[in-house]
Amino acid sequence: MDKIKDQIGTEIDSLADDLFTISDFLLTNPETAYKEFKARDYLSSFLEEKGFEVEKEIGGVETAFLARPAGCGQTRPTVALLAEYDALPKIGHGCGHNMIAAASLGAAMVLRQILGVKAGGIVLVGTPAEEGGGGKILLAEAGVFEKIDAAMMFHPSSSNIPGKGMLGRIKFKVEFFGRTAHASGSPDRGVNALDALVLAYSNINAFRQHLRPDGRIHGVITHGGEQPNIIPDYAAGLFYVRGASRSYRDELLDRVRKCCEGAALAMGCEFNLEILQPVVDPMKRNPALEAAFKDNMMELGIEIDGDSGRRGSSDMGNLSHYLPTIHPWLAIVGPETACHTAEFRDATVSSRGRKTLLDAAKMLAMTGWDFLNLPDLRKRVEEDFSRAR
Ligand SMILES: [Zn+2]
Ligand SMILES: [Zn+2]
Repeated sequence: MDKIKDQIGTEIDSLADDLFTISDFLLTNPETAYKEFKARDYLSSFLEEKGFEVEKEIGGVETAFLARPAGCGQTRPTVALLAEYDALPKIGHGCGHNMIAAASLGAAMVLRQILGVKAGGIVLVGTPAEEGGGGKILLAEAGVFEKIDAAMMFHPSSSNIPGKGMLGRIKFKVEFFGRTAHASGSPDRGVNALDALVLAYSNINAFRQHLRPDGRIHGVITHGGEQPNIIPDYAAGLFYVRGASRSYRDELLDRVRKCCEGAALAMGCEFNLEILQPVVDPMKRNPALEAAFKDNMMELGIEIDGDSGRRGSSDMGNLSHYLPTIHPWLAIVGPETACHTAEFRDATVSSRGRKTLLDAAKMLAMTGWDFLNLPDLRKRVEEDFSRAR
């Protein structure tokens, strides 16, 4: 391993107590999307103590922040280390975002230390509300990433992979409007909105057989009526469509709309389909930057797993269409343990979780270093990004 990477490793190890303290603070103070005030203030103070200047409420998002090395001025190229820190309702940090923040802070602090007055190419962006809120989408739309050349973070997982696809996603509400009537005395005067919703659900189910492997549709019924003896005049449900491209995601929404139209026509109901924000884009992967991260995984002797093909969605997908990004995954649990569980949350501070946190911080710093110092890598990253996908 070259000298600088050795040094990065040693410096991260010497910051271990700080990084565990950050991760533990977030774990014991979980805050959900757009309510991460304690996290914002705690992480900001930490960075200020380590020689960063911090701007809070960037891009009009109250709980976001941007930290840059004090007194350096911004230089190009600039790499952004991203810190997620939102938790889930009830389960707390069941997605392990406490580790994401700690690892990115560690990488930023070590690069700042090594680069000294030449650290103007490092920023750390605090990106709230990944879970359902789309914080990165708001920040990107507000121009926060305009003068940044690449962005990276890691996510805890059950396997070690430098990158994988993530699906685009649209969440929407479907409502049917009918007419109440006594269900026994005058059923002929009613229009049953629940039946329309059940038909729509069945239509969607039938259509599901014909999805491509990268398509997903799932939903729940949220309103189905009041009493058995009143024909329901209102029924509603919440659904997701997901696809590995924006065009397939949008095509699935069109097909689901037709499923609802057919049901409404059959029952004589009115219906309304409302798209709920944020609309999430699929991940536009950057093979060159992923390969640089993979090389650093191998430098640290981390065994790389195969891609299980399991796919979720993240607002990192939207960001990946603004600038080159990577979102590698590093194991803190075995394949038997799912994310968004209490077991996964507890694993973020297990001895395996601790080791992964330090490894993640090292690999982010190493890859950040590579990006800033290897013009040839940057060229390949730009080429990959400019390729239309
Ligand atoms: Zn999650
Ligand atoms: Zn997550």
